[in-house]
Amino acid sequence: MSTHTKCLIIGTGPAGYTAAIYASRASLSPVVIEGPQPGGQLITTTEVENFPGYTDGVQGPKMMEDLRAQAVRFGAEVRPGLVSSVDFSGDVKKVTLSGGEEITADSVIVCTGAAARYLGLPDERKYMGLGVSACATCDGFFYRGRTVAVVGGGDTACEEALYLSNLAKKVYLIVRKDYLRASKVMQQRVHDNEKIEVLFNTVTMGLFGEEVLGGAHLASHSGTENENFYDIAIDGFFLAIGHKPNTEVFVNALELDEAGYIKVASPTTATSSPGVFAAGDVADPMYKQAISAAGMGCRAALDAERYLMERS
Ligand code: NDP
Repeated sequence: MSTHTKCLIIGTGPAGYTAAIYASRASLSPVVIEGPQPGGQLITTTEVENFPGYTDGVQGPKMMEDLRAQAVRFGAEVRPGLVSSVDFSGDVKKVTLSGGEEITADSVIVCTGAAARYLGLPDERKYMGLGVSACATCDGFFYRGRTVAVVGGGDTACEEALYLSNLAKKVYLIVRKDYLRASKVMQQRVHDNEKIEVLFNTVTMGLFGEEVLGGAHLASHSGTENENFYDIAIDGFFLAIGHKPNTEVFVNALELDEAGYIKVASPTTATSSPGVFAAGDVADPMYKQAISAAGMGCRAALDAERYLMERS
């Protein structure tokens, strides 16, 4: 079975659905491939309070349902499926789904998102949404006056620790090395913040708590004569050890940066392959917000529309 569309959108986070809303309103009749986690990262979030328009906040899954319904209302065709390979070399772009179905398209918008990196501890899964989070901006508010820990030593970890220090009573920053990798200015801010305690040379061995998170088992100076195992009591455990863009399938088709994000010709969303555009976290190592992804999805649809118009 094969399908041809003027505009194929891969991914259904805020970027994908916003691109679908704009592309369908521009009469491009987009086909949207859902991907492995329909709705994207927001499906695993509880309350979203910083997306404009929802005065009282909204549950992540509900917001994605609304975005999907809005795209479908204007004629976007949303299909389940996983992309297994792509060929962007010709004018007509070819995308093959894991079931073998081939879709050809005059333009493609890649919105496959990114995934937060986790430590890989079984306890992370156990307490997901019950104290474990990978987004302080999204979930920090729920820890007002509580004690939290952030894992990581980069700019994101410092930024998250600083953000959380405005809400929480105390913030531990768990750093596996004896230094922070973050920029000097961020290091200084963390150092100057009385609420943040940096635990250098420390790794997390596990988490504990009844029903919700209650604390973490830590090990400092592992494998040395100063090795020390101890517990800290925490209500929130925030991972900030980097994100991984979902670009495996595009490695040979699009130019990526050294961290694997799709390179776009800013301020447009054009990738290295004419007719292929990218939007959202897959092309944004910096902001990683639902609203910035949605904005980029809008720009990608407008870019695709312009590209198709110039060729017609
Ligand atoms: P980074 O890759 O810079 O840092 C990741 C951090 O996580 C490192 O400290 C790393 O430790 C640690 N880490 C990785 N794996 C593990 C693990 N398994 N266990 C414990 N710790 C681990 O990622 P960021 O997300 O911080 O930053 C990504 C990019 O975005 C960077 O270029 C950064 O500068 C930029 N950025 C800029 C900001 C700004 O300018 N305001 C804000 C946020 C990000 P180790 O050092 O030991 O490898």
